[in-house]
Amino acid sequence: MDYRTVLTTCSYCGCGCGLYLEVLDGQIIGTIPCKTNPINQGKLCVKGWNIHEFIQHPSRLRQPLIRKNGTLTEVGWDEALDHIVSKLKEIKEAHGSDSIAFLASAKATNEENYLIMKFARAAVGTNNVDHCARL
Ligand code: SF4
Repeated sequence: MDYRTVLTTCSYCGCGCGLYLEVLDGQIIGTIPCKTNPINQGKLCVKGWNIHEFIQHPSRLRQPLIRKNGTLTEVGWDEALDHIVSKLKEIKEAHGSDSIAFLASAKATNEENYLIMKFARAAVGTNNVDHCARL
């Protein structure tokens, strides 16, 4: 039996609480709050306590999906990104930059959210950027 804990950061919101994931024989089985983390000091909210449950959940999306003939179909990342680029260009040409909006997420890092803002303003040309801490 191989049991160990892995120190990481909760990805549910921007607070950044520290926690240990319990790993038993390669499977994540539980969460323990980190007492020495200056943010949460050994505490977690209910989402943090249960964060281990989604990581290996069978319903978790692991690949991009594109609707083809009315059916969501798994595709590779290159195809998904090409699809996004062509659709954004199509919408921008037909309706202008401000017809596009971006929603960032607290589940992304600050750096990733910064890049979304930069992409919206510098590449697409819109200030339509918002954020939902609970996306
Ligand atoms: S969701 Fe809860 S445990 Fe996770 S970072 Fe936010 S406050 Fe901390």
